[in-house]
This record gives sequence, structure tokens and C-alpha cells, in this order.
Amino acid sequence: MSAERRSWLMSRVKSKNTTLEKTVRALLFARGYRYRHHDKQLPGTPDIVFPGRMAAIFVNGCFWHGHTFCQYGKLPKSNLAFWQAKIEHNRTKDADDLHMLNEGGWKALTIWQCELKNIETLIEKLDDFLNNT
Ligand SMILES: [Zn+2]
Repeated sequence: MSAERRSWLMSRVKSKNTTLEKTVRALLFARGYRYRHHDKQLPGTPDIVFPGRMAAIFVNGCFWHGHTFCQYGKLPKSNLAFWQAKIEHNRTKDADDLHMLNEGGWKALTIWQCELKNIETLIEKLDDFLNNT
């Protein structure tokens, strides 16, 4: 993969993530939840934070965060070693961040890009998470 192609792909992934986040935030807002965005004080800078509930949500793109067994998480065939190392690094970091949040008394939930395909189930998942915190 050329450098150009790679940076194009990265920008695509980034903008996609933003859209995913916006969708989840809109769902939450419509259901009356209020939250903060990107709390840099917390490990991993969670995308959506509920300080009163000590709850944090990460909205993860399946490719970028290496969603296992997910169609969107499949790695490209070219430059496989590069992507494997990159994604594995992200997965390790994500796991560390979740661990640190839990250690600090926070509850964390990961929403995957592919879960936005089923909004009803996603809403249930969000309600469950937020009502149990
Ligand atoms: Zn996925």
C-alpha cells in the first residue's frame, strides 16, 4: 500500500469514527442522557462520559480497534504485517485503558461500529449499562 493510499484510508477511518460517535451521542441525547465529550483526564479519553454515574463509553471503529470475528475488522491482504502490528497495538492500548478506568472505579462500555446496524439492540444495551451504574 502506498503512503498516499494509507493516509487516505486513515482519514476515512477517522471521519467514520466521528460519525459513529455522533450517532451514539444523538441516541443518548434523545433518551434524555446528558454527558461530556472526550474527557482527557480519563485513561483512553473516552468518547462519551457520564461523570455523575462514573460511566464512560468508547465508540470504536471495528477495523481500527480490531473487532475480532467481525466483517469490518478484517485486515487488508496487502501490508498485512504493518496492519497487524498497528491494530494489535490499538487493542492492547484499549485493554489497558479499560483496566485503568475500572481500577479508578469507573464503568466502561465499548460500542462497536457494527452494533449501529441494529439500533434497537444498541439502545437496550446503552440503557442497561447506564441504569446499572
Ligand atoms: Zn464489529
